[in-house]
Amino acid sequence: MSPDTLGICYAHEHVVIRGPFVEQNFPDFLLEDFDKICEELNHLRSLGVGTMIDAMPIDSGRSAVDLATVSRRTGMDVVAPTGLHLRLYYPTDHWYDTIDEDSLTQRLIDEIEREITDDGEPSGVKAGVIKIAGSRDQLTDLERRNFRAAGRAQAVTGCPILTHTEQGTAALEQIQLLRDAGANLEHVVLSHVDRIADVTYHKEILSTGVRLEFDSAMRYPANANVTFDLVMALAPEFSDSIVLGMDAARFSYWSSFGGKPGLDFLVTQFAPKLRAEGLDEQLIQNLLVNNPAQAYSFDRNNGMENKQ
Ligand SMILES: [Zn+2]
Repeated sequence: MSPDTLGICYAHEHVVIRGPFVEQNFPDFLLEDFDKICEELNHLRSLGVGTMIDAMPIDSGRSAVDLATVSRRTGMDVVAPTGLHLRLYYPTDHWYDTIDEDSLTQRLIDEIEREITDDGEPSGVKAGVIKIAGSRDQLTDLERRNFRAAGRAQAVTGCPILTHTEQGTAALEQIQLLRDAGANLEHVVLSHVDRIADVTYHKEILSTGVRLEFDSAMRYPANANVTFDLVMALAPEFSDSIVLGMDAARFSYWSSFGGKPGLDFLVTQFAPKLRAEGLDEQLIQNLLVNNPAQAYSFDRNNGMENKQ
């Protein structure tokens, strides 16, 4: 895909989540009713949303074949992730605990350059983003391995990286690990940092050159919306650094599943509120369209270096 064709981009999403481990342990997360999923995505398409970045990596409920099916049925471009999630999303006997950094790096590169495999089955789909996750306050040793592997895989392929922060914490450690492993921070997006209201913390993170993904707007009350306050405070100074998402992993957030507020919240409620409160139209376009296009494009320098 050319980054110019993204349109409005939802920057951290859950389009399909399925599998026996999710079914047993996180039944609220199951997103496998294609008719309902497509109904919601068709509605988003009618509102100008063109792309969704899926955030469920290897073996944590991902089905690349299903993502492709939903994309074909709705015309929504969906970017499929490789990578590893938090340990809690895997069964006790999973190779998460034992894979070494080199082997994980190679698995990520294979999924980006050749194709994703789910449960050993080829999918015909390539990964377009590396999703990794860190625990609260400081990373575990296994997470540090994941971050190093992700940074190295980006250095080889140029593939952008999307991280989970736990309640916005440990952002600086995540950045340090990725930078040391060779990642270009312009193509690194840290999620959920808007769980922390402190503007100084955000400025310290943004001054490193990473992008931040805010997705808590629907979780705060309208009259004390931390996400709204952060966007108003930060977007003018860091005009190309913030992207927006819903992170609506629970089906109770989807209109088509009978939930609230519906995935259209960003375009029907949040963006209009930013506009009504006087945020410049160009900055709103940046948040929804231009910033994700830059952040989620492949890093030419890293990718090219490898291919020459
Ligand atoms: Zn998520």
